[in-house]
Amino acid sequence: MTVLDVTDLTVDYPQRGRGTFRAVDRVSFSLVAGRTIALVGESGSGKSTVVRALARLVAPTGGEIRLGGARRTRGAAYRRAVQMVFQDPFASLNPAHTVGHHLRRPLLVNERARRGADVAAKVAELLRSVNLTPADDMADKRPHELSGGQRQRVAIARALAPDPEVLLADEPVSMLDVSIRLEILGLLDRLKEERGLALLYVTHDLATARHFSSEVMVMYRGEIVERGPSDEVILAPRHPYTQLLAAAAPSSGASREQARAARAARLAARARRDAERREVVAGDGCRFRPRCPFAMDACTRRPPEVRVGPGHGSRCWLGADGGGRPWP
Ligand code: ADP
Ligand code: MG
Repeated sequence: MTVLDVTDLTVDYPQRGRGTFRAVDRVSFSLVAGRTIALVGESGSGKSTVVRALARLVAPTGGEIRLGGARRTRGAAYRRAVQMVFQDPFASLNPAHTVGHHLRRPLLVNERARRGADVAAKVAELLRSVNLTPADDMADKRPHELSGGQRQRVAIARALAPDPEVLLADEPVSMLDVSIRLEILGLLDRLKEERGLALLYVTHDLATARHFSSEVMVMYRGEIVERGPSDEVILAPRHPYTQLLAAAAPSSGASREQARAARAARLAARARRDAERREVVAGDGCRFRPRCPFAMDACTRRPPEVRVGPGHGSRCWLGADGGGRPWP
């Protein structure tokens, strides 16, 4: 069941000097209950801006965000239903407040009618659901008494307090010790399953994107350039950018051959890059063109997103030439 529909989402930031910078350009996707979709791409590609727009932290320049089909997007119902886990567990909790306080607040806002005893029980239940036990001890602790992983568990519990339908997790483990990353991702995965959450997992790590999500969307300079079933996109990428990305991350399962091809592609592209970069930024062509080993004349026009396999789309003229049909 589709929970959140995003259509042609566009976000411009005002730029120092003059004009605006388009960080997100006509991005469309849907989040489905009980499923994880990964949003991957290198730093600066616009992933966090998508999340911020969905969390109503930035105002979109264009496009539509719809919750549950026709329901209202503004107002308290949306804010309750769409919750977020931030990247930095050290910055996201107020050091002055106890864990219990962090969890009581969202519970009270959304369940005003509840009596004190119920709220305490609810706090304990939330803490147990993220494996922070004994719950009573944990509720009295302050953030500085907790490890990074424990703090992120609190942040997750806080996001769950309003009983959301959508959870936006923006690089939720990238600031944690490597040794506990999988634990936290496993926790998110279990909570998604148990609560039927629609989970957007933002990461630049293809290996965990593949492992924890059913679908992957690849972002490059504000656009989704490829999307599809995780294994397809990461093991058999069709867009030249995804091919580069997958080859640069051998742990994701990409072959050695892919890595060699990508190295050659990088060399071939380097010569072309600088001269063309200015032109591409100004024009409406494929944004990957300056780095693309397959760049051709058609690429001065924006490529359509074409179907290159079941549930698999690529925004590239190569796919279009190969007989791909318009997406979706
Ligand atoms: P990602 O999360 O993929 O690293 P972001 O969404 O944070 O990407 O940023 C996308 C682009 O928008 C980057 O080029 C970044 O410099 C720019 N950007 C992000 N936030 C702002 C802002 N508040 N004002 C202006 N530009 C911004
Ligand atoms: Mg980011």
